[in-house]
Amino acid sequence: MKSYDIARIPGDGIGQEVTPAACAVLEAVGKRHGIVFRWRPFDWSCARLKAEGAMMPQDGISQLSGMDAILLGAVGFPGVADHESLWGLLIPLRRGLQQYVNLRPVRLMPGIQSPLVGRSGADIDFLIVRENSEGEYSDIGGRFADGTPAEAAFQTSVFTRAATDRIMRYAFDLAGKRSAKHVTSATKSNGMKHTMPFWDERFAAISAEYPDIATSQYHIDILTAHFVSHPDWFDVVVASNLFGDILSDLGPAIAGSIGIAPSANINPERDYPSMFEPVHGSAPDIAGKGIANPVAAIWSGAMMLDHLGEKDAASDVEAAMEKALLRSDCLTPDLGGPADTKGMTRAVLDNLSGSG
Ligand code: ATP
Ligand code: MG
Repeated sequence: MKSYDIARIPGDGIGQEVTPAACAVLEAVGKRHGIVFRWRPFDWSCARLKAEGAMMPQDGISQLSGMDAILLGAVGFPGVADHESLWGLLIPLRRGLQQYVNLRPVRLMPGIQSPLVGRSGADIDFLIVRENSEGEYSDIGGRFADGTPAEAAFQTSVFTRAATDRIMRYAFDLAGKRSAKHVTSATKSNGMKHTMPFWDERFAAISAEYPDIATSQYHIDILTAHFVSHPDWFDVVVASNLFGDILSDLGPAIAGSIGIAPSANINPERDYPSMFEPVHGSAPDIAGKGIANPVAAIWSGAMMLDHLGEKDAASDVEAAMEKALLRSDCLTPDLGGPADTKGMTRAVLDNLSGSG
């Protein structure tokens, strides 16, 4: 019997609804595979910010550092600026726990309609590897000459060789395990004079270490267009923090719904826990209605199992989820179906127990 300490941070809005769904599925698959989850609940959220003045306690990072993994719902609250919730919890956790890879699979599942008419699952199946520790999202910069005609704001991007090389090696290693063996780099070295030429140089240098893996690179503007026109061109896409962020909202959109898109913040060296969370936010517009799609959270749970080395359990969850998505009566409203969060979760659980 293996057991894992899992920090459970449902967060705000629909995070409170989809996280229990993911945990129920993990519990069920754990029973089949002899895995025990010791859930460690944390109320860190924008709700906590409102009540106590901070989204998490000051020693938050050290409270989490001994966990085996972290399952996060979503954070965000009407009235709390997005940058506040990002810098109040997500970015400190990703950086403090050295989760420098943000991995986001984009896969068109059977049963899901892509807005790209005529595309099938054979065409849309790629991974976005986003640099998660530096780049454009830095806090170096500031506002100057407030309120005067000379007013200006500056923001410095930081691209170190160490962080650039490690994210690229991660992407190439991942591509090496897939059949297409292809890495695409997202760049913008025509417009950004210093950072992106450096990014291109490091991409060329690292790709030379992987002669069996094909490469291509596109400027971010045309790359977004190719995601729509030629999603079948992509296998592993490596991108900086900002470009990866943009691509990983576009990716789920072409794969049908943000309600099914999972993500992982990974510390590959495993000296800190990795964190698994849906791509979507707290969705204040549907929070409390019980209709949020739990699939993104459940799929994120499968990624967690895979990271913990529980490959069979991870495949079981994915198979149960894919089978549930084939049943139009189990789909939530974002996928055009009549079911609620509980109904969709029940369908996944039934498939796991063999009664679906
Ligand atoms: P946040 O500020 O927390 O990121 P947001 O409104 O900017 O919130 P999302 O929460 O991702 O962004 O929501 C974007 C849209 O997608 C909303 O209309 C929301 O209802 C919908 N949506 C997001 N997640 C889901 C889900 N799991 N199921 C159904 N609809 C969803
Ligand atoms: Mg948002």
